[in-house]
Amino acid sequence: MDIVDGFAGAVGNTPLIRLRGFSEETGCEILGKAEFMNPGGSVKDRAALSILRVAEERGELRPGGTVVEGTAGNTGIGLAHLCNARGYRCVIVIPETQSREKIDLLRTLGAEVHTVPARPYKDPDNYQKVARRMAGEMDNAIWANQFDNTANRDAHYATTGPEVWTQTNGSVDTFVAATGTGGTLAGVARYLKERSGRVRIVLADPSGSALYHYVRTGTLEVMGDGSITEGIGTSRVTANLEGTPIDDACLIEDQEAVTCVYRLLREEGLFLGSSSGINVAAAVRVARELGPGHTIVTVLCDGGGRYYSRLFNPQWLQQKGLQPG
Ligand code: PMP
Repeated sequence: MDIVDGFAGAVGNTPLIRLRGFSEETGCEILGKAEFMNPGGSVKDRAALSILRVAEERGELRPGGTVVEGTAGNTGIGLAHLCNARGYRCVIVIPETQSREKIDLLRTLGAEVHTVPARPYKDPDNYQKVARRMAGEMDNAIWANQFDNTANRDAHYATTGPEVWTQTNGSVDTFVAATGTGGTLAGVARYLKERSGRVRIVLADPSGSALYHYVRTGTLEVMGDGSITEGIGTSRVTANLEGTPIDDACLIEDQEAVTCVYRLLREEGLFLGSSSGINVAAAVRVARELGPGHTIVTVLCDGGGRYYSRLFNPQWLQQKGLQPG
């Protein structure tokens, strides 16, 4: 292994893990991009680094500056690590519905954390809009704006996409992932489609999101009544997602995702969060549709340690009517 330069140097180049049980069961290669192995623990380290680099290059963020972001957690965690490593102040606005573990970690990392009530995007007090307002009132500050700042998807076009292509020797048939900002899916989809028009892109959506309906029909309509998953599912097409070549979508119910999370833990030894469960469940569905002999790549977005009080708490699961497996 090469020596890398600091936290930023350790972002990316994650392993592609063959999920043995799921692969054997379907006769396909089901491969998970191990984004939980990034130094800040999630896929969002790539976007956070790219957003800071672009702002620095443009002179928008100068030494001693402040980075403000509205985040469901993981982008904020990536930004907080990078702000420490680069000498910036980090201000995070997070909906109070997000897991305690992520909020505690942000505070441990030294971010100034503002929890706000969860409000829909159109509400002026939505967490993203609060973050934009706060940044506007500060000197030498940027609003990272992960949803509509395309430095996010550019990171995945420049790194995640090429890594998937190289690691599979170009044999990837389908890439499937759920979206929050859409950065991962958009960047990887664009890169892979450029390499080969044969690669299919499938969006995995949780209940309560509008993108499944959007991909299938062209109009945004929320399907189902919500999900326990965090960081994914949305009611709008972000600038990052706009124009992404998506071939199909599947809707994954929470129980299917939770079953996958517990199978990943017990059968593969991988301790992961709920969006990884949605992604693997969707990859398995795609594999069953395609039949044996295909290579399906998905994303293992973050580790399970961020969800002890929920996904890995039997009482909490029971209250939600879900079974651990
Ligand atoms: N999974 C988790 C746990 C996340 O935090 C996020 C980002 N919010 C995603 C998946 C989706 O990634 P993206 O924003 O690139 O669509």
